[in-house]
Amino acid sequence: TKDDVKSYLMRNAFVLFTVVAVILGVILGFSLRSYKMSYREVKYFSFPGELLMRMLQMLVLPLIVSSLVTGIAALDSKASGKMGVRAVVYYMSTTIIAVLIGIIIVVIIHPGKGTKENMHREGKIVQVTAADAFLDLIRNMFPPNLVEACFKQFKTSYEKRKFKVAIPSNDTSTVTSIISNVSEAMGALTRMKEEIVPVPGSVNGVNALGLVVFSISFGLVIGSMREQGQALKDFFDSLNEAIMRLVALIMWYAPLGILFLIAGKIVEMEDMGVIGGQLAMYTVTVIIGLLIHAVIVLPLLYFVITRKNPWVFIGGLIQALVTALGTSSSSATLPVTFKCLEEINGVDKRVTRFVLPVGATINMDGTALYEALAAIFIAQVNNFDLNFGQIITISITATAASIGAAGIPQAGLVTMVIVLTSVGLPTDDITLIIAVDWFLDRLRTTTNVLGDSIGAGIVEHLSRHELKNRDAEMGNSVIEE
Ligand code: ASP
Repeated sequence: TKDDVKSYLMRNAFVLFTVVAVILGVILGFSLRSYKMSYREVKYFSFPGELLMRMLQMLVLPLIVSSLVTGIAALDSKASGKMGVRAVVYYMSTTIIAVLIGIIIVVIIHPGKGTKENMHREGKIVQVTAADAFLDLIRNMFPPNLVEACFKQFKTSYEKRKFKVAIPSNDTSTVTSIISNVSEAMGALTRMKEEIVPVPGSVNGVNALGLVVFSISFGLVIGSMREQGQALKDFFDSLNEAIMRLVALIMWYAPLGILFLIAGKIVEMEDMGVIGGQLAMYTVTVIIGLLIHAVIVLPLLYFVITRKNPWVFIGGLIQALVTALGTSSSSATLPVTFKCLEEINGVDKRVTRFVLPVGATINMDGTALYEALAAIFIAQVNNFDLNFGQIITISITATAASIGAAGIPQAGLVTMVIVLTSVGLPTDDITLIIAVDWFLDRLRTTTNVLGDSIGAGIVEHLSRHELKNRDAEMGNSVIEE
């Protein structure tokens, strides 16, 4: 019909704008590099990009809550339980596959030949133990104050225990100051100091993990309340719809924002001169690992399970993938991921509403792959022979670190500390890989978003019977009424 044609053209126009924006951003960025802009000028120049980032982040919180509550309330507890189990099995197995790819590829390519003495270093890093990070992850699942979890940079146990850090500073008593000290030291992370406290499970100061746990429980309860829960269900339904309309508006602005996000980053990036042989090899190794996971493993998995063409599915995700590349944040990309999956790929809303918010918070294949790979790279440059047990430890902690990493720029770099500490590698050596992290971060974020999206496709396929039954049930009840 005419409407179909119109929406088809619109969609393709959007994809075209987005791709053109990336290309223009790269060209503009490189052509302005010779001007050697000051920090302030770069800030001004990247302003349209910063705005996009803020607009998307603004929607993340209401989107996570409303989509999870309505998604789960729309199913009976048995169906959502089954779907939940499938999603978690998918998250865990793909994360473990990603970790294994990372390990195998870094052992084969061995980018860390030679010593670290001839490598460039940037800044210093803190000491946080793995146990502390684990406990915090669990703690944050249960925020004591929901309102506070929504708007305040929530505090962690480190603060109360006057956590000691291994960096020189006057005041190291809070996580905030720990992180801002690290950020100060690590030039690449200065933005975090202004905006984000990257503690496990937090997004932009919001405790996403806690909200996810709460929203799931709340949705389950509302779903079981039948008539009594209807008012709340309607409320969250209409909230969700309103948020998605806001997303649609932001999409008009997105290409411009992406253009400036990318151009701004290229203008400010360090000269590649500092990247020595080992670091270059490391970068290539990470890229190969991510490509294997994103271009071979995930599409193959999708095909084997659903018997549908993975490339058509991935084609529908272009905007989300480009947004991930531009923003380096899977949480900020979440609104766009929703749009692509529901409107272009036509994935059932009851599935996306559950799988996407949870996925964006805990399922990070790219990050897991990178954490394991980077840890082993650091072992290699230290000529530190890892035994089998230590490799297993790395794979477990890398998985945990990827779950704990927030969907924000370079969160994975911060949670790397857990992986390194677990096998006694020097955490200071994170500074060896900082120079290229901004770039690898974009690629792993894109992989993370792809992993969540393919997960939604797979879970929908596996849950098709429950979804159909539920439709039939709902249809019947409508007729009965
Ligand atoms: N930036 C990544 C994300 O948002 C997390 C990471 O640093 O690995 O998915």
